[in-house]
Amino acid sequence: MSEPIGFSGGSVAGPPMDVADAELAAAEKIRDGQVGSIHSWDLVTGADGPGSRMTLFMAGCGMRCQYCQNPDTWHMRDGTRRSVEQVMDRVARYRRLMTVTGGGLTISGGEPLLQDRFVANVFRRAKADLGIHTALDTAGLLGARLSDDELMDIDLTLLDIKSGLPDTYTRVTGRPLQPTLDFARRLSELGRTTWIRFVLVPGLTDAFENVEAVADIVQGLTSVERVEVLPFHQLGRFKWAATGEPYLLGDTKPPDAELLERVRGQFRARGLTVY
Ligand code: SF4
Repeated sequence: MSEPIGFSGGSVAGPPMDVADAELAAAEKIRDGQVGSIHSWDLVTGADGPGSRMTLFMAGCGMRCQYCQNPDTWHMRDGTRRSVEQVMDRVARYRRLMTVTGGGLTISGGEPLLQDRFVANVFRRAKADLGIHTALDTAGLLGARLSDDELMDIDLTLLDIKSGLPDTYTRVTGRPLQPTLDFARRLSELGRTTWIRFVLVPGLTDAFENVEAVADIVQGLTSVERVEVLPFHQLGRFKWAATGEPYLLGDTKPPDAELLERVRGQFRARGLTVY
């Protein structure tokens, strides 16, 4: 990853901006969504949506999921600043690959909607300038930040429902469930294609009643194409040391085949397509 873009001031017509002015200009561009704080990029196939995709991981997340495997994405200050133009230039390089494979652009995180103006700007340009498929990977807590009009620029929402019982949801994430439910219903009412993601963590999210509650929520939505039950893993545990926060799942094992099948069966029993 190259260096962050700068906001150096000055021109032949006037004196250079001082540091405070430059910082103010940078803050305004972030607020307007002209500049975003980006953790990383990845080119993926068979994940984060259909076809071959460029996934843009935004920096910053207001949730604190016990099972988070990417705590290095939690803080916006740790990201690299990039303008909408810079992102679009990069995405455009892969347009042909995306088109040929039925892929597109996915914006993930962290929680991308912490930088909702930037995300909305990138999706608008991706549709208007490149005509590519777009996907948003979100936990839905901040879904109210996007207008109905902006949701029309998103072809697919990958919506994490991290638990179905409100108490369990808060224990898992540190945040309330209701905003995610509100966002899920809005996507449904607007007919926006949605894939639901549920991370199965033995001893944390696997209780029969908790899974039933997620399945009930999903069954009540009309625009869900599939449910993905994602087995918990420990690939990111080493990143927790740098957070200074205790990693509570150090002894937790991935779910075994029997548990996975039970949980997928609970969704299938409602006629849902499950992966
Ligand atoms: S929403 Fe995602 S990035 Fe944020 S804490 Fe949860 S798992 Fe980690």
